[in-house]
This record gives sequence, C-alpha cells and structure tokens, in this order.
Amino acid sequence: YLYNVNMQGLVIKSTGSWYLVHGEDGQDYDCRIKGKFRIKGIQTTNPVAVGDQVEFEMEPNSDNGVIFKLHERRNYIIRKSINLSKQAQIIAANLDQAFLVVTLVSPRTSLGFIDRFLVTAEAYRIPATLVFNKLDLFSDEGLAVLADYKSIYERLDYPCYEVSALEGTNVPLIESLLKDKTTLFSGHSGVGKSSLINALLPGRSIKTGEISESSDKGQHTTTFAEMHTLPFGGYLIDTPGIRELGIYDIKPEELGHYFREMRDLMHLCKFHNCRHINEPGCAVLKAVENDEIEISRYESYLSIFHGNETRA
Ligand code: GDP
Ligand code: ZN
Repeated sequence: YLYNVNMQGLVIKSTGSWYLVHGEDGQDYDCRIKGKFRIKGIQTTNPVAVGDQVEFEMEPNSDNGVIFKLHERRNYIIRKSINLSKQAQIIAANLDQAFLVVTLVSPRTSLGFIDRFLVTAEAYRIPATLVFNKLDLFSDEGLAVLADYKSIYERLDYPCYEVSALEGTNVPLIESLLKDKTTLFSGHSGVGKSSLINALLPGRSIKTGEISESSDKGQHTTTFAEMHTLPFGGYLIDTPGIRELGIYDIKPEELGHYFREMRDLMHLCKFHNCRHINEPGCAVLKAVENDEIEISRYESYLSIFHGNETRA
C-alpha cells in the first residue's frame, strides 16, 4: 500500500489550507497538514510556506498527501498578516537571495521603498540585489538617475543590474545569477516583475498587470508566494500581489544594525544606546554631516524608526 510510504518534498505553492508539494519522485502532490508547526513566540496564519522542506505520506485510497513533518528552516521571511494584525504570514523559507525589481520611470521606485526592502533582507540575513527594469525607456535624464541610484547602493555592496524585460536586455545575465539558487522576487506593481519572470520562464505565462494588494484588502483575501522551477536550474519565488515585504518585528533600537553603513560606525557613538537621532557624540550623525552616509539612507532610517509607512 502506498499510504504508509513516507516521502520528502519541497512546498512549491500554498493556499493556506492546501499545499502543493514537489515530491522527491519528481511528482507534485496536493497535501494537507497534520499536527502543529510553530515558530517559537510567533503566531502565524500559515504553518508551512513555499520553500519549506517537508515529509508527507499519502492518504489511504487517495491521490492526496498529509504533511506531518517540517524540516528546520535555514531562514524565512515573514510579514504582518493583512487580515489578522496580531499574526504573521510566512512568505517563504530557505532563500538564497532576494531580488527587488525597481524602475526609475513609469513608475519611479522611491529610495525609501528600496531601503525598506534592504532592511528586511538584512534583518533576515538574505543577500539582496537590485534589478532596474525598463532600461529601454531611459532617457539621458533617466540614465543619470540610474547612475545616482547605483552609486548609493553599489557603495554599500548591494549588486545592481539594469535590464529590459521587454527587449530581453541582460536577461541572460540575470539567469546566470539565479542558476541553482532559490531567489525571491519582489517589486512594486507595475515595475515589470511579471514580464521579467515570463522572460525567465519560457513557455510559462504569468498574468501581467496584476491587481494591487490595496484593492485586495477590502475583500479579505490573502496572497501567497509561488515557486517556479527555472529551466536552467534553481527556483524563483514570486510574490504576486504582495506590495511590500514589510518591516516585521524590528525594534527601533535594533534598526541601525540593518543599515550596513551605520552598523560599522555605531560602536563609535558616545552612548551605547544611541538612537542616532539627536544624541551628542553620535558617530552616525557626524558621518551624515560629512557626507559619508547618504542623506536619503539616513532619512529612510528616521522614517522607519518613527514607524512611517513609505509609499512607492
Ligand atoms: P508587474 O506589476 O511588476 O508584474 O508588471 P508587469 O509585468 O505587469 O508590467 C507592467 C507594465 O510594464 C506592462 O505594461 C509591461 O508591458 C510593461 N513593461 C514591463 N517590462 C518592461 C520593460 O522592460 N520595458 C518597457 N518599456 N515596459 C515594460
Ligand atoms: Zn549614534
């Protein structure tokens, strides 16, 4: 009988109560969950997420499986649940890297939005990369803004690449970065994330022009990440409708640790509990004054510190 055969697999899709698991035999199985899986100290709406390694067994006389064991996660990204504010949603687990797709024209992604993404990536210790899309639309002015943006982030060792999903420019380069890795793709709606993913997944077609999350809110729907197998090796996790990963569970006094340029300086502040806002002898403020820290980055720090939501 098949049903007492235990199998291992990778969760590639989740709807909240059903999970699609890619089994080690190469087949995909619809699975339910048996038992409780918890992250210590955090209440989550979904116990298992895309990217999780699980063990499951087949239900008797059925094509469906039951997940009974969750392997330990290397890392995960969570965000506040939109519907239940006290709970968190696990977006994805076991990531090698996170890519943020941004644009400088139609629409222009704000520096604040980029910084919030980078802070989240730092907090979860996931290497982050910026992908500037719609290169084909850049005028000379656009190219000057691109150079500005890149200089801010390359200085901090965040890799930056420019692409055109429409014309295929640098798509092979992106492929080489994704090969054999598990990569989360994020981006504000309209930046061409779906178009870029379609360019990376020939033969698959993801709907472009998605509904934005804000219009979902009223209807109490939850969006889940989805994992795609890349034809050249590796996995791509799309976050359709997820507007922003969000800063979850970061205490204001820890925030400086997630700004790379501040992290290296903070030990020089006069007070060990310096918030880098108006304290005397603050090494961060001094570096901002001396143009050693980009003013936009410091403004993002203040904005997140004070709990402001940024708009893209
Ligand atoms: P998403 O909301 O980020 O998934 O964005 P979509 O892939 O739906 O694209 C939004 C709009 O931008 C669509 O009209 C696309 O055709 C367009 N678009 C996407 N990539 C490019 C690009 O590289 N260049 C240009 N000119 N338009 C693009
Ligand atoms: Zn300080």
